[in-house]
Amino acid sequence: MNDHPASDAFQHAELDWDENGLPQSRQYGDVYFSRASGMAETEHVFLTQNDLPRRFAALQDKQRLVIGETGFGTGLNFLCAWHLFERVAHPQTRLHFISVEKHPLTREDLQRALALWPELREQSEQLLQQYVALNPGYQRFVFAGGRVVLTLLIGDVLECLPSLDAQVDAWFLDGFAPAKNPQMWQPMLFAELARLCAPDATLGTFTSAGFVRRGLIEAGFDMQRVPGYGHKREILRGRLRAANVSISDKPWFARPGYTTAERHAIIVGAGLAGCATAASLAVRGWKVTVLERHAEAALEGSGNPQGVLYLKLSAHGTALSRLVVSGFSYTRRLLSNLQAGQDWQACGVLQLIYDEKERERQAELAAAFPASLVHPLSREAAEALAGVALPEGGLFYPEAGWANPPALCQWLLQRPGIELHRHHEALELRRNGRSWQVLGGQALLAEAPVVILTGAADAARFSQSAWLPLKRIRGQISCLPANTQSGQLRTVLCAKGYVAPPRDGTHTLGASFNFQQTDDTPSVAEHQANLEMLEQISADLYQRLQADPQRTEMLDGRVAFRCTSPDYLPLIGPLAEPEAFAETYAALGKNARQSLHTPCPWLDGLYVNTAHGSRGMISAPLSGELLAAWLDDEPLPLPRDVAEACHPNRFLLRKLIRGT
Ligand code: SAM
Repeated sequence: MNDHPASDAFQHAELDWDENGLPQSRQYGDVYFSRASGMAETEHVFLTQNDLPRRFAALQDKQRLVIGETGFGTGLNFLCAWHLFERVAHPQTRLHFISVEKHPLTREDLQRALALWPELREQSEQLLQQYVALNPGYQRFVFAGGRVVLTLLIGDVLECLPSLDAQVDAWFLDGFAPAKNPQMWQPMLFAELARLCAPDATLGTFTSAGFVRRGLIEAGFDMQRVPGYGHKREILRGRLRAANVSISDKPWFARPGYTTAERHAIIVGAGLAGCATAASLAVRGWKVTVLERHAEAALEGSGNPQGVLYLKLSAHGTALSRLVVSGFSYTRRLLSNLQAGQDWQACGVLQLIYDEKERERQAELAAAFPASLVHPLSREAAEALAGVALPEGGLFYPEAGWANPPALCQWLLQRPGIELHRHHEALELRRNGRSWQVLGGQALLAEAPVVILTGAADAARFSQSAWLPLKRIRGQISCLPANTQSGQLRTVLCAKGYVAPPRDGTHTLGASFNFQQTDDTPSVAEHQANLEMLEQISADLYQRLQADPQRTEMLDGRVAFRCTSPDYLPLIGPLAEPEAFAETYAALGKNARQSLHTPCPWLDGLYVNTAHGSRGMISAPLSGELLAAWLDDEPLPLPRDVAEACHPNRFLLRKLIRGT
């Protein structure tokens, strides 16, 4: 638990459309863009004042530029920046756009607003296609085959920016006019903009208000008045005066920095975490070698036919809950690339009330999150939606559903630059100068400066990672043939287990939790437990399926092992050398609050991405983006404290401080 407020249910923008079809905010009583010409104004105020035509063209191979914006609105500034970037930047460069928005437009309003700009159609279509599952907090979008990344922070700018870890090259200081939106234009905002600046960062804004100019000067910018566009006499441009000197007071969570020019990574394990990491690196121009011990990807924990997009939320804004919301939205956007019906289905997920504690928990969640993410349903409404009789109502997640994890893995592995080496079992890691050698017995399987250990609990099989506190939990699913009656199930049902609508004529139900057993053959007892679970979820569906617990030999099943950590959060990030860590930071054992500045003894180039538990469909795809951000020194796709809560070093730190 931590002190963060719950993610507030947000309010969409309320728009009025004027006689020319231009949007205006009812909440703020101001326009989204100039009545004369939105595009020309964006070009003048934001692109030109930040010198972007020249800076985009000057980017070298594999370089990127980071733009930050306050107020995403209709996305016009973003699309114009992207449009310019595509026209002038070298094809091997990347654009990262971060924007904050308190009142996102509905999809319908966004579509109507963007139809105003036929010149931007190519970009608008991609944005609209991915403008789904928009939820509070950090929302990542990947466009143009990974060349353009958007990190949209849904919430108030003054609450969102402090958690952002990024270095911004150019700021678009937008937002409604200071007179109409005084809450936003605060000294704290100006200080945050300065904190987040890369060296030589610039800024453009449409306002020329004196207090904005003075506030930005005070925060560390040199400001200049320049002629405005249209009826505006003057606007402001700025440049950061002196580069930020950042000395981390938590060096164990500092960015390790990547010092080798060769961009080649080896990924051990081709499950969902491995495939997602491979894809995120490949689109950033890395060469990726994936080592997989089996004949194919996704044959272990990511091999079930139907994985449920089950959101384990908390109303208290815990790190896990914020990871789940951001991860869910990201996965949901990726899934739209797969074949609906066969590889995934956005059929919704219904979490049924099964006891009084769950009833209370659900009431809290319904109050804490937007209805578009989750809303309560009475028993009658739930039954109408599910198509089967139910013992209770529950919470409905309309944009969730099920997906076939192997299909997602295959799709992720298709990025150019990824090589999958099948039947390659990594057994040992050895340092060789500035690179790592991965060995399988006597054989050298691969060598590269970066190695990322995925593969569930086996991530801890190497001497360098043996300390990782990973647990294996056996889970067995049962597969039941669908019939006309059972096929009427229209949504995923969850209580203590789950059952999904049929895929390829089969329902998946599961999954057992077994901490003791370590063998991988399906057991009769666990099939029976799964059937009992089904009966509790819906006796009606149980009957329709004619499930007979005495004849479990008729059932198909599959066993896999989840991997979890002691705090149920995944481990995503760089690894340190545990003994050197204990020595370097021994003083924390006496006083946990003191600031230490000694750099962390990293195992240079060694990373881990594992312990996604039974929610890999939710957290693993986004974990690839987080790992790539650590490795490539990019803006993090999650709040800083959530990334730290997933950092492998948290366990070394706790050991020092608590002695556990
Ligand atoms: N850049 C936008 C575009 O290209 O369409 C136009 C931005 S519009 C003029 C201002 C935006 O700032 C609105 O979408 C509004 O909801 C958002 N906004 C205003 N105050 C905010 C705040 N405190 N935090 C986050 N967003 C805010």
